[in-house]
Amino acid sequence: MSAQILDGKKTSAEVKEELKPRIAYLTEQGCQPGVAVVLVGDDPASQIYVRNKERTCEKLGIYSVQHRLPATTPQEELIELVNNLNQDERIHGILVQLPLPPHIQEREVLYHISPEKDVDGFHPYNLGRLMIGDPVFLPCTPWGVQELLLRYNLSPEGKNVVIVGRSNIVGKPLAMMLVQKGRGANATVSMCHTGTRNLSTYTRMADILIAACGSPRLITPDMVKEGAVVVDVGINKVGDKTVGDVDFEGVKEVASYISPVPGGVGPMTIAMLMANTVKAAERALQRKNA
Ligand code: NAP
Repeated sequence: MSAQILDGKKTSAEVKEELKPRIAYLTEQGCQPGVAVVLVGDDPASQIYVRNKERTCEKLGIYSVQHRLPATTPQEELIELVNNLNQDERIHGILVQLPLPPHIQEREVLYHISPEKDVDGFHPYNLGRLMIGDPVFLPCTPWGVQELLLRYNLSPEGKNVVIVGRSNIVGKPLAMMLVQKGRGANATVSMCHTGTRNLSTYTRMADILIAACGSPRLITPDMVKEGAVVVDVGINKVGDKTVGDVDFEGVKEVASYISPVPGGVGPMTIAMLMANTVKAAERALQRKNA
C-alpha cells in the first residue's frame, strides 16, 4: 500500500490563514509586521527563495523591504546594514539569505542580528533558549517539520526519531526540539552524519525518519522500517528536476506517511518564517505598550 502524503502546501496554507487575524490586529494597532530581506550576490536558488518569501509577505499583508547587494560587498558594510535594520522600528524581522559569498563570515553577520529580530532563529541566543526548553524564535525548517507532523496527528512523543544530518540550521535544532520534555516532542532522538557507521542500522529503527542531508535520494526503501513516517527536508537539483534526500517512489511503498519534494517541508519553512515575523511584531508591540 502506498503511503499517505504529508501535504506541506495544504498545511502551510492553514498556518498562514491562522496568522491573518493576528496581522490585522497588529496593523490596526499601528504595528504592521515588517521584514527586511537581505540578499548578497546573485545565487539563482537564493533569488528564488527570496522572491517566494517576498510574495508570501505581500499576500499576508506583511510589510517587506529588499536589500540586494553585490557579491563584492565588504563584510563591514553588510554588518552596518544589519545594525541599521536593528534600529529600524518598521522592521521586526531581518532575513539574511544564506549562503553568503565566501569572503563574508556568515556567523559574524548572523551574530549582529538583534535576537528580537532573529526570525530565522539562527542567533546563538535563540538556539540557547531552544536548548534549555524556553524558546522564543524556533528555526523555521525544524519548526516546519514538527508542525507538519503534529497537524497530521503524528506526535513524536515516545517515538524513535532518526535524523540524518546535523547542520546548525536543520539537524541539530530539530533534534533539540524533539528531545525536549513536553508535548509534541519527548522523542528518543538519534542524529546521523557522515561519521555514522552503518547508517541503515539506525534508519531502520526509526518510527519517524527525517532526512536532512542534502544527498539526492540517499534514503532507499531498504533503509526504512515498514510503516515508518518519513519526512524529507532535502532540496537537490538533479538535472532540471528538484528531488529530496529520499527515493520517494520506492520509499512511499514502505512508509505509512511521506512528505514530497517539492510541496512538503519547503512551504512549511516559509509559513513558520511568517509566524516568527508575526510573533516578533507582537513582542515589539508589547514592549512599546509596557
Ligand atoms: P548541510 O549543512 O550540508 O548538512 C548536511 C548534513 O547531512 C551534515 O550533517 C552531513 O554530515 C550529513 N550528511 C551528508 N551526506 C550524508 C550521508 N551520505 N550520510 C549521512 N549523513 C550525511 O545541509 P543543510 O543545510 O542541513 O540542508 C540539508 C538539506 O535540506 C539540503 O538538501 C538543503 O537544500 C535542504 N534544506 C531544505 C530546507 C527547506 O525549507 N525544505 C531548508 C534548509 C535546508 P557531516 O556533518 O558529517 O558533514
